[in-house]
Amino acid sequence: MQFSEFKIRQKLLKGLKFHDFLEATPIQEKVIPHLLKGRNVIGQAKTGSGKTLAFGIPIIERINENRPEIQAIIITPTRELAKQVAEEISKAAKFTNIKTMTIYGGVSFQNQVNQIRRGAQIVVGTPGRLIDHLTKGLKIKPKIIVLDEADKMFDMGFYDDVSYILKLIRGQGNQQFMFFGATIPDETIELSKNYMKDPVMITIRKEHDERIPSSIKQFYYVVAESSDKLNHLINIISDLENNYNGSNQLKILIFVKTRVATRKLANTLYSLGFKAKFINSDLSQAAREKTLEEFQNRRMILVATDVVSRGIDIENVTCVINYDMPNEIQNYVHRIGRTGRMGKEGLAYTFVSLDEHPLIFQIEQKYKTKIKKKFLRYR
Ligand code: ADP
Ligand code: MG
Repeated sequence: MQFSEFKIRQKLLKGLKFHDFLEATPIQEKVIPHLLKGRNVIGQAKTGSGKTLAFGIPIIERINENRPEIQAIIITPTRELAKQVAEEISKAAKFTNIKTMTIYGGVSFQNQVNQIRRGAQIVVGTPGRLIDHLTKGLKIKPKIIVLDEADKMFDMGFYDDVSYILKLIRGQGNQQFMFFGATIPDETIELSKNYMKDPVMITIRKEHDERIPSSIKQFYYVVAESSDKLNHLINIISDLENNYNGSNQLKILIFVKTRVATRKLANTLYSLGFKAKFINSDLSQAAREKTLEEFQNRRMILVATDVVSRGIDIENVTCVINYDMPNEIQNYVHRIGRTGRMGKEGLAYTFVSLDEHPLIFQIEQKYKTKIKKKFLRYR
């Protein structure tokens, strides 16, 4: 998703574009719409995933430039992080009049007081020096309060300090709270209970956290020659047709390596009397959508390349058949993930050559799953 698709002001978009921020990262795409609406959010995504702008963009959007007072406060564990966050926000706010400042120890207290008086609107600070200010004259009830790298902050022993700051800046009216981190420890949840009304929790899973649901039964066949494959495929399909006799629900999704192979296999199956179609990236978007819709709504066999294994929602696929092994084992997970959705039972068959056989064990180890060996039946 492009930043230009968010409902944010032109000046902000211009700043993002100026620094080559064009496309939102996954955490940004997910949290920004909620934050723009004023919702309280707990956000989790690994380091380097763009959490700063995930809260920075909504903050800039929600600040009133014409009011020279602190409207947002961001608490970070270290001064380095405070500097980085302030820099990143200043980049995005380049074409606005919003002033961002940092508050941390080891530098002049009075300079910070002066900067606040000159009308800073966003403050990024570390717990210790923030408490100094808040107990020596600074009285603020900002409308936005952020804990950045909250998990790290609690690891460093700042839980009491952070709780104290939140107590000091808690206002009567509506305040928006945003808690971010690479993980969500108990302390984050605890504080959210005290401060967040109706929070939204957004978590971005890491790639290697992807799991194969236990609702999918997985089998593989070792196929010696590619000429064998077609025969065995037909056996499998015939068995499925017998089991699902008369049912409108039988949907079989077959994956092959190349675009040419999708057409070839679909045509072969069709000529043998099966209702088979193909889909690949040569087809126009409209043609692909039409085929997918057809597949969604009726009993059918669809032959595809990996383009459809990601992103597209097809419900109720009875069985996925990996006629060819995917090039990357991650794609195995995406492919078979089209079946066994929403807790329903799924079925996945994979053909491997002798050379490819070790990949089965790699998948089993990496995803802690079991793929059962099946022996070929010759009819
Ligand atoms: P996190 O806080 O999740 O560890 P950061 O917010 O520090 O990650 O972002 C990591 C890096 O990615 C920074 O250099 C930042 O400028 C860059 N970045 C953030 N969002 C985007 C984006 N949408 N497009 C390109 N780069 C981005
Ligand atoms: Mg960060």
